[in-house]
Amino acid sequence: MTGVVVYPGSFNPITYGHRDIVERALQLFDSVIVAVGTSADKDPATYLATRIDLCRQALAEFGDRVEVEGFNVLLVDYMRAKGSRCVVRGLRTMSDFDYEYQMIAMNQTLAPDLEYVLLPTSRQWSFLSSSRVREIAGLGGDISDFVHPAVAAHYASGS
Ligand code: ADP
Repeated sequence: MTGVVVYPGSFNPITYGHRDIVERALQLFDSVIVAVGTSADKDPATYLATRIDLCRQALAEFGDRVEVEGFNVLLVDYMRAKGSRCVVRGLRTMSDFDYEYQMIAMNQTLAPDLEYVLLPTSRQWSFLSSSRVREIAGLGGDISDFVHPAVAAHYASGS
């Protein structure tokens, strides 16, 4: 496959599980746009600008093949604005699948021309989630096995 794929999510914060999806998407597409949004049912406590900044640092190794942007519009409108026809998401569990499938079904009605690539998580990261990382960091635990050093430093500084 070629072209640009959009990887939308909350990235609150970005983890090695997200990084793994970006790395593997780059084997399928020319470039990845990481679209950092807000999700009503996820903790929005970490400012969007901070989440974007941490994504940029955590993905800097991929150079200009990866772009990180904030977005707060409908995904289908964002896709049109970016001229991309493909969305990538990661799948860990059956509940991820359920959630993704519902989102895809709705979006297929809104924008039938879009396609979706669902990449199964690498086994190493299958139990890793941003919410667990926040929980561990909030209790003073060591999250350095799960996130880029810039993310660990952000939480260690208590900001
Ligand atoms: P959202 O609020 O949109 O679900 P997340 O940042 O939680 O945003 O997740 C973004 C995407 O990354 C989702 O498709 C999610 O399934 C995927 N993802 C999150 N953690 C992992 C992981 N450890 N391995 C693979 N995919 C993951």
